[in-house]
Amino acid sequence: QPADLESFSAELTGLEIITDPAQLTKLSQDYYTFSPILQPLLNDKRGDVVVRPTTEAEVIQAVTACVKWRLPLTVRGAGTGNYGQCVPLQGGVILDLSKMQAVKWVKPGIACVEPGVKLAALDKETRGSGWEIRMLPSTYRTATIGGFIGGGSGGIGSITYGQIRDRGNLLAVRVVTVEDEPRVIELRGDDVYKVAHAYGTNGIITELEIPLAPAYAWAEAIVAFPDFMTAARFGQVFSDSDGIIKKLVCICADPIPTYFAAFRNVIPVGSHCALVLVAESSLEPFAALVNEYNGTICLQKSAQEASKGSTLVEYSWNHTTLHARSVDPSLTYLQTMFPSDKELKLVERMYQHFGDEVMMHLEFIRMGGEAIPAALQIVRYTTPERLAEIIRYHEDHGAFIANPHTFVLEDGGRKTVDVEQLRFKERVDPYGLLNPGKMRAWAERK
Ligand code: FAD
Repeated sequence: QPADLESFSAELTGLEIITDPAQLTKLSQDYYTFSPILQPLLNDKRGDVVVRPTTEAEVIQAVTACVKWRLPLTVRGAGTGNYGQCVPLQGGVILDLSKMQAVKWVKPGIACVEPGVKLAALDKETRGSGWEIRMLPSTYRTATIGGFIGGGSGGIGSITYGQIRDRGNLLAVRVVTVEDEPRVIELRGDDVYKVAHAYGTNGIITELEIPLAPAYAWAEAIVAFPDFMTAARFGQVFSDSDGIIKKLVCICADPIPTYFAAFRNVIPVGSHCALVLVAESSLEPFAALVNEYNGTICLQKSAQEASKGSTLVEYSWNHTTLHARSVDPSLTYLQTMFPSDKELKLVERMYQHFGDEVMMHLEFIRMGGEAIPAALQIVRYTTPERLAEIIRYHEDHGAFIANPHTFVLEDGGRKTVDVEQLRFKERVDPYGLLNPGKMRAWAERK
């Protein structure tokens, strides 16, 4: 270990410190492996030491030592991000917050939690008092709430509540600054977006207030359709059916269902399918809608049955890609927002244009009050040039791509420099120690 690291570790008496090389490797990685572009860029990146605080006071202790020795500091939740968000580009310290798991309180409609609580555990706890988390990533079993806010965007539930970035979906955060004498700052209201989705470049979140939704018993269903556009239109109309309570509207074009080993004998060969979560109390009107679109319900589970074993949640969002890649690791994916259009003309055009090369996987979400098709298409990867060409073709035709093949914050979903985030970083991380290399605006500031 270099001298500064030894001195650093010596100042962390009482904290859990990990230096075992195999553990260091594991705790330096995330799921950037979904991207053939990111793999060669990130495969050899390692932190030098992992620190696992259990309290905010221990976070401050670790940060004080980091600042003293000017060590890069990368915050980590469960490390399930897809863009190398928590991969330390310049080594240094990995601050693993997965042990800070307290649920501080649950009131009607709001929970106050520590960042390391797993989303599944939090959901289970709030359900006890009749509330649930508004939206979950499909990694909810392992992912932490801090990591979801720091690096995620939305997921199961976004069809009703929109995305994390929508005002009201995050109420407050406590942030530890990375200064000679770290401060604790509380941000509320719109100010929370100074640190949300900033990849941990803007302060260390040690507590969050999260809004909740009334809890429902969610039934699950797979509906098969003989042609893709009927499945897609069903998805749009189901999403627009305000009287039917739902949490997931995922549409997969053939051959995606063939990657779902568990459903090989369930989904008819050659079908396109909808994976849905619908409130048990809405099953009747749901069945009527399926009927109207000549769909076939080939699997249906009550909430009780769905709570045991595998759930459709873990076939949706980026789990769809996970299943596809487990069959064919050369596959990768895109993240797209199609414009609001009830006829889904651009979806149809892209579906027909790319055929099997870009397999259509829609996730309907609510945006600006309308249900729109977002997509996590599965791509048969050939070369970086071809991937860039596919992205450009989508953009040229009016689809928005949040590029999952970059670890740079601004080059992914944002596209522009967030001046507020940059100003906030200047205040809370004057030495630029937090997750260096991820925020372009910081590297290029004058
Ligand atoms: P990490 O990967 O550990 O961290 C993510 C980012 O947040 C990092 O930049 C980290 O530095 C920062 N961070 C973590 N904790 C803090 C903190 N306390 N303070 C400040 N910054 C912090 N994402 C979605 O949004 N929706 C999905 O449906 C979805 N599905 C997925 C499916 C699969 C199969 C995979 C592999 C990924 C998926 N993801 C999805 C991405 C990811 O799983 C989620 O965003 C997840 O919530 C991240 O949580 P985590 O604890 O693993 O975060």
